[in-house]
Amino acid sequence: MAKITLFWHRRDLRQHDNAGLAAALQSGYPVVPLFIYDREILDQLPSRRDARVTFIYNEVERLASQTDQAGGTYLAYYGRPAEVFAALLREHEVAAVYTNEDYEPYAAVRDAEVTELCRQHGAEFKALKDQVIFAKNEILTKSGAPPKNFSAYRDSWLGALRDEHLQPYPSTELFTSANLVPLPQAPARPTLESMGFEPYEQFVPAAELPTDDLVRNYHKTRDQPSLVNSSTRRSVHLRFGTLSVRQLMRQAKELNPKLLAELVWRDFFMMLLWHYPFTATESYNPRLRNVPYRNNEEEFRAWCEGRTGYPLVDAGMRELNETGYMPNRIRIAAAGFLVKHLLIDWRWGDRYFADKLLDYDMAQNVGNWQWMAGTGAVAAPWFRVYSPQSQQEKYDADLAYVKKWVPELGTAAYPTPIVDHPFARQRAIDSLRAAYQEAAT
Ligand SMILES: Cc1cc2nc3c(=O)[nH]c(=O)nc-3n(C[C@H](O)[C@H](O)[C@H](O)COP(=O)(O)OP(=O)(O)OC[C@H]3O[C@@H](n4cnc5c(N)ncnc54)[C@H](O)[C@@H]3O)c2cc1C
Repeated sequence: MAKITLFWHRRDLRQHDNAGLAAALQSGYPVVPLFIYDREILDQLPSRRDARVTFIYNEVERLASQTDQAGGTYLAYYGRPAEVFAALLREHEVAAVYTNEDYEPYAAVRDAEVTELCRQHGAEFKALKDQVIFAKNEILTKSGAPPKNFSAYRDSWLGALRDEHLQPYPSTELFTSANLVPLPQAPARPTLESMGFEPYEQFVPAAELPTDDLVRNYHKTRDQPSLVNSSTRRSVHLRFGTLSVRQLMRQAKELNPKLLAELVWRDFFMMLLWHYPFTATESYNPRLRNVPYRNNEEEFRAWCEGRTGYPLVDAGMRELNETGYMPNRIRIAAAGFLVKHLLIDWRWGDRYFADKLLDYDMAQNVGNWQWMAGTGAVAAPWFRVYSPQSQQEKYDADLAYVKKWVPELGTAAYPTPIVDHPFARQRAIDSLRAAYQEAAT
């Protein structure tokens, strides 16, 4: 049996500019790329009609047909990664398994298991940095700690950036029959139906760079939710790796420092989650771990369904429910309203967004929710409570956004505010202050 290298696609569903794939194709052994629909993740999804699963499925099938055309075989399985690899390592002479790094807590455990299996079979396990520019310990403070101040991190990040960090990897050029191998009797790939899912598509822009015009104007348009192209809308592609972050960074570096800074936030939150995996489910700030959240279920349902009587929040939640997307400025308003005005645990909001957002990414979601709740390693001051009304006047003065999603606004059918803003503001400040002070005693 001839030796092969396996390349495991995870959050990098593209052939081009792929660090791990390029390295695998230069490993000296023919490459068999593969994807695993992970039961541990899919079986926990609340709905069998999930646009993210359909998106992944379509991308895997695209990769499979590109591989067929190039003269190789693409493998796909529905199962537990450790079990899939145990079988592959038994059935084939595997020289190495290549992949790209994944910084989520579950991924660290999963990859450790697969690394151990590889070791038992004499195969190497190699994970490369691909989905961020700087990872893990590459940007640290002078004392060697993970930075907890975004401005300092961004400045160090920009100072460390060299042209080579943004250079594309030659994976497409290397993806030829000389570096691939057709496998006779490859198992049939799973279908959505065979995994118990219904096909369900939602709008996602093409996996291409945004126009230069959009990027040039980004800092002026990004906070105008009623504009169709107010921001890049590339978060889904960055999440699943259908677009290379290096490519988008190159464009941002050339045309708009504000967009570049937003992309640096993405690296920042990935770095923080890798250092502090417990923050996926626990507040980073120990003094804010016992906030007396009210967790009123009826109010939570009203928030989820866009029935709070605060039009900007309701419009955002309805857009999310209908499309799987919400503009950043509205995510801020909706999240702030949940954790401060309704005093509901940020983890409830984090979970709801996780179920609904097409671009859901644990590091970005947890990082931003903890920021809004004031509990994170980096966070807005806990005593800051935005007024949803003032936010609406500032970002949607002509009501174009709210009227699109809340057409009954101004009629008797629209609910009165679920809570009075000055009252809720004071209640939030008092509750958070009490928790903060109590934790110090
Ligand atoms: C409560 C809350 C939850 C969020 N959850 C997620 C999430 O699960 N997944 C996710 O990708 N983003 C999340 N964000 C960040 C941000 O809202 C989205 O990345 C952005 O709205 C996606 O739209 P875009 O691609 O047009 O962004 P653009 O404004 O065009 O920005 C370009 C890219 O920069 C990155 N970026 C922009 N803003 C942020 C930010 N605040 N934090 C980190 N990265 C950022 C994203 O990768 C984004 O695609 C969340 C923000 C908040 C306030």
